[in-house]
Amino acid sequence: MAQKLALLGGPKVRTKPFPGGPCIGQEEKEAVLSVLDSGLLSGFLASPGDAFLGGPWVRKLEAAFLKYFDVPFALAVNSATAGLHAVVAALGVEPGDEVIVPPTTMTASASCVLMASAIPVFADIDDRTFCLDPESVERAITPRTRGIIVVHLFGNAAPMDEILAIARKRNLWVVEDCAQAPGALYKGKKVGTLGDAGVFSFNQNKTITTGEGGVVITRDPALARKVQLIRNHGEVVTEALGQEDLVNTLGWNYRMTELEAAVGVGQFERLEKLNQIRIDLAAQLTRGLSPLSGLQLPTVPSGGRHVYFLYPIRLKEDLGVARNRLVEAIKAEGVPVSGGYVRPIYWEPLYQKRVVFGKKGWPFTASDRPILYPKGLCPVAERLYEKELLLTNACRFPATVEDVKDVVRAFEKVFENLDALRELEPATKRGSRG
Ligand SMILES: *Cc1c(COP(=O)(O)O)cnc(C)c1O
Repeated sequence: MAQKLALLGGPKVRTKPFPGGPCIGQEEKEAVLSVLDSGLLSGFLASPGDAFLGGPWVRKLEAAFLKYFDVPFALAVNSATAGLHAVVAALGVEPGDEVIVPPTTMTASASCVLMASAIPVFADIDDRTFCLDPESVERAITPRTRGIIVVHLFGNAAPMDEILAIARKRNLWVVEDCAQAPGALYKGKKVGTLGDAGVFSFNQNKTITTGEGGVVITRDPALARKVQLIRNHGEVVTEALGQEDLVNTLGWNYRMTELEAAVGVGQFERLEKLNQIRIDLAAQLTRGLSPLSGLQLPTVPSGGRHVYFLYPIRLKEDLGVARNRLVEAIKAEGVPVSGGYVRPIYWEPLYQKRVVFGKKGWPFTASDRPILYPKGLCPVAERLYEKELLLTNACRFPATVEDVKDVVRAFEKVFENLDALRELEPATKRGSRG
């Protein structure tokens, strides 16, 4: 007889809290102290000269990125959101231009387009990669489309060959949002180096963190220059730098402090180790969960490297128990799991009401076609959010194989008790099981 579910008053699989959080060591502490001792907390000045490009730790962090990614330009910024906005603007979008984005991602992957007065157009995702579906991207293209923002969601590479082929054919740029995938590989190549630019995040919850922060990488010198201008009040230096193309060089303050950069240098050295921990724990989880039927577990194509920012599980069969009930039951056993990811971005009121800048509909009014975000726009994203996707963040430092075994045990226990959960489903739902 199976043990009674914790949800129904039985004992929990796990009572200890689940571990997780940043990995910060002596290197970061010493680096921060040295910044404090130096008195130079930010090396940036908005004026022509050496300090336009930031202080020594910012440059050290950028140098580490140049080396790891083997690209000519890396630009530290104070968030990935700032980096995404700077890149979209630097790529020269005009107000009303369209940029294709996925609906299932952190909000900034789409809001960065609005920040540049351009219009996000949502293409659907694929229910195996959870990244943009190339066919849906193709269908979303209009004469106003200028680019595509690809998100390597949950640490898994998007199908870049297909997306780059579409982009090449239509002369579109491609930006890679790598916030969840530093060190992930696509066909042996590092994500972030495949499109026109790659953007990374160091916010509190990312694989490596500086509290807030990010980096943009690119091979394009003109793009790098514009990102530098946007990062640091560009309008005051364009003349001195002989920057003739003024389009979208209006500057924000997207500068990273020396404190963050000092933490970032130490954190970046830990990236490979932290990714390997995630990969090993994820492999353990996949082994443990694969005997359970009805679950689609992550698979990685050859040459790929999933870095498991989150471990996604898709309910691929109707178990007669709603996804949310399943999540509730697994969570009650004391392990971290959640249902869905964020809701499709276009469900947010800002998109539904198309109110962004002021009251008159800008930037949507800059378009010559009506821009609508109806429900059902991206059916796969909506279905995954509402019914099929489960996520766990169990596969991360400092969790161990023993911790992950508890996740497996919680799933096993719930799957042994599916009948008890089915009893909780509304009659109509139970009736419809056939
Ligand atoms: C975290 C995240 C961002 C934003 O990063 P910030 O550094 O917090 O601005 C953008 N895109 C994705 C996919 C993210 O996960």
